[in-house]
Amino acid sequence: MSKTLFEKIIDREISADIIFEDELCIVIKDISPQAPTHLLIIPKKVIPKLSDSTEDDKQILGHLMLVAGKIADQLGLDETFRLVINNGAKAGQSVFHLHLHLLSGRPLNWPPG
Ligand code: 5GP
Repeated sequence: MSKTLFEKIIDREISADIIFEDELCIVIKDISPQAPTHLLIIPKKVIPKLSDSTEDDKQILGHLMLVAGKIADQLGLDETFRLVINNGAKAGQSVFHLHLHLLSGRPLNWPPG
């Protein structure tokens, strides 16, 4: 199977601004930021969509959330940020390798639309 865009970034075949990496995930700057801070928190395991995850992915999913909180703290985002997961093309997903968007640095309206 061909690699996802994010696997190519993880494998350094495509360059990206890497903010953080550990054994389970990588955090990069979004190439088309929708807020002053727009990061992507990406598991190294390829899970195409959140709805494809299983009980086996519990640790990874929890880890992504914890990393989001730690990065937000390290970047001094003043505990003000939003996490978004687009699940499926109709919800705006364009890269089918699970990722959390972390957005901050501007007013974040609700509902998000
Ligand atoms: P989705 O639409 O699947 O929720 O989010 C995919 C995100 O990946 C988009 O916000 C898009 O800007 C970002 N993206 C697409 N291609 C690249 C790339 O080559 N590098 C980086 N850093 N981000 C990308």
